[in-house]
Amino acid sequence: MEGAGGASGEYAFQIDLCPAIMPAEEDRGDISLSLRFHRKAAFAALGIGLGIGLAVWQADRLALRYYLATDAARAETAMRLTINALEGDLARYEVVPQLLADLDAIRHLASEPDNAQRRGQIDALMLARNTMLQSSDIYIMRADGETVAASNQGQPGTFVGQNFRYRPYFHDALQGHPARFYGVGTTSGLRGYFFSAPVRDMQGRIAAVLAVKIGVDRIEAAWRGNEYRVLVTDPEGIVFMSSVPHWLYGATLPRTAERVARTEASRRYADVALHDLPFQRAQIDGVAQVHLPAIGRASGDGAAAGGQFLIAEQVMDEAGWTVHVLLDTAGARMQARVVTITVFLLLCAGLSAVAVLVQRRARIAERLAIEARARDELERRVEERTADLARVNSHLEQEIVERRATEVELRRAQANLVQVGKLAALGQMSAALSHEINQPLAAARNYADSADVLLERGDIGRARQNIGHILSLIDRMAAIGRHLRNAGRKPNEQLAAIQLPALLEETRIIVGGRLAAVGARLEIDLPPGLPPVRAGATRLQQVLVNLITNAADAVEGTEDRRITVSASQQGERVVIRVRDRGPGVPGAIAERIFDPFFTTKPAGNGLGLGLSISYNIIRDFGGQITLRDAHPGAEFNLTLAAARPHEVAA
Ligand code: ADP
Repeated sequence: MEGAGGASGEYAFQIDLCPAIMPAEEDRGDISLSLRFHRKAAFAALGIGLGIGLAVWQADRLALRYYLATDAARAETAMRLTINALEGDLARYEVVPQLLADLDAIRHLASEPDNAQRRGQIDALMLARNTMLQSSDIYIMRADGETVAASNQGQPGTFVGQNFRYRPYFHDALQGHPARFYGVGTTSGLRGYFFSAPVRDMQGRIAAVLAVKIGVDRIEAAWRGNEYRVLVTDPEGIVFMSSVPHWLYGATLPRTAERVARTEASRRYADVALHDLPFQRAQIDGVAQVHLPAIGRASGDGAAAGGQFLIAEQVMDEAGWTVHVLLDTAGARMQARVVTITVFLLLCAGLSAVAVLVQRRARIAERLAIEARARDELERRVEERTADLARVNSHLEQEIVERRATEVELRRAQANLVQVGKLAALGQMSAALSHEINQPLAAARNYADSADVLLERGDIGRARQNIGHILSLIDRMAAIGRHLRNAGRKPNEQLAAIQLPALLEETRIIVGGRLAAVGARLEIDLPPGLPPVRAGATRLQQVLVNLITNAADAVEGTEDRRITVSASQQGERVVIRVRDRGPGVPGAIAERIFDPFFTTKPAGNGLGLGLSISYNIIRDFGGQITLRDAHPGAEFNLTLAAARPHEVAA
């Protein structure tokens, strides 16, 4: 049993938990709705993220291509300017060797190359021209290649005595062709561009070669200090001139055996050690680029740093070299990155603005929906209330109709009851009257019977006495008859001036029986000169009878059974007071005692009509009846208009 109980407890526990774990049907609907919403939002976010990524990537690509293309164009322009400058520079010196070679003094030396005096003169001439032309060196070689005169004669490392027959420019000139060559001076170790021309002796044979060497440091110096890197490579791909010192003598092409052999044959680079500077070319983002390795230590000359460069290059056929202008792509990349970041930020800002707008619109839509719902709700309530009101209204109307009908019915019932009350009063009065009349009648009969007997006996005296009694009884009955006549008057009697003392005396007779029955004493206290009141005598008496009878009922069985009727004049009004010393009217019912059929008396004793009829009678007279708590007892006040003098006269 215990196990079963435990199991059922567990089961109940699970059932209790169910609502907590399992969402209600509609909640499940909400949850799947919110899941769908979240999934949608996640997809939207993913889509927007991808869109932004794609846009940023595309912007980056386009910006990079644009800036690279712009830089490539700049590099191209820079290259053209560089080549123009170089060509101009070289062109200045191109004709110089031939002009000098044609001088007679030099031709004489070619005829007599070992003439020391001529050599001395020519050395001085060379020095003068060299200084004037701002060239590096001017010198003359014999047909065997030995230098016989030079502008640097007498200076350390002078060319005089050196043999340059291995130089191509020497061969070419000796063949009668003006030539050019560039390379590192084997004597000086300085780079230079060599122009040569054949020197003909006085007989017109080519007997010597004149060469002018110009330094390239000056040209290189002009390239430094701007954003471009300028390189000049020889046909073997070796850098001969460079705005980056570390790149100098770098082999941009693989150093094959043939290339090395060709280079060594011309001794272009004398004893200078060459190094590798491989150009890794590529066409990236629509422009020619080259990647150069870093050379030397990074902490050294910053210019030696490698990197990715845009490249513009052109072969200068006359000079026999190729000019390369390199522009670091870092600038373009940086500009592209700035554009990309700007685009990204703009997209984010745009997206934020859109999000804010969407959110605002959603909020506005939500608010409008709430307002619409509230309006609908309000309208619904108003309709409900209106319907309620209409219902209540129709109820009220119905009730009013019913109330009116009831009032009519009540009035009719009241009238009937008043009539019934009157009949009942009449019945009571009839009973009282029959009692009042039957009693004297019976007494008179007794007196008559005994008078008869007395007369038979001849007792005349006592018989006469009896006849006297009979007469007084007849008088009393006549008085009652008078009352009957008064009571039988029509209610629509004319109002007249009523003298209260007489009316009250009559009333005393009417209520005499009732007062005697309860042992009450009626005190009438009227001030002298009290004016008569304006009323109907019968009905006013009916009221007074009512009040005095009620007072008699109230004092029945109490200690003080005095009933006082007093009156006083108050201006144009006369107040009649009927006071008893009974228990009085409790406050709780004081309001209701004038209502028809209100009675506290046991069934059969009271109809509850007396005060109601009295109230109406006094109102008919234009007066009013009120109750006052006299303590002990009750006091009913009748306020009536005092009769006018002409009414009194009538
Ligand atoms: P009824 O006398 O037939 O009861 P009334 O209209 O004359 O009808 O009186 C109504 C009620 O007023 C009485 O039942 C009684 O309770 C109260 N009442 C009238 N007069 C007095 C009085 N003098 N003292 C105390 N109660 C009175």
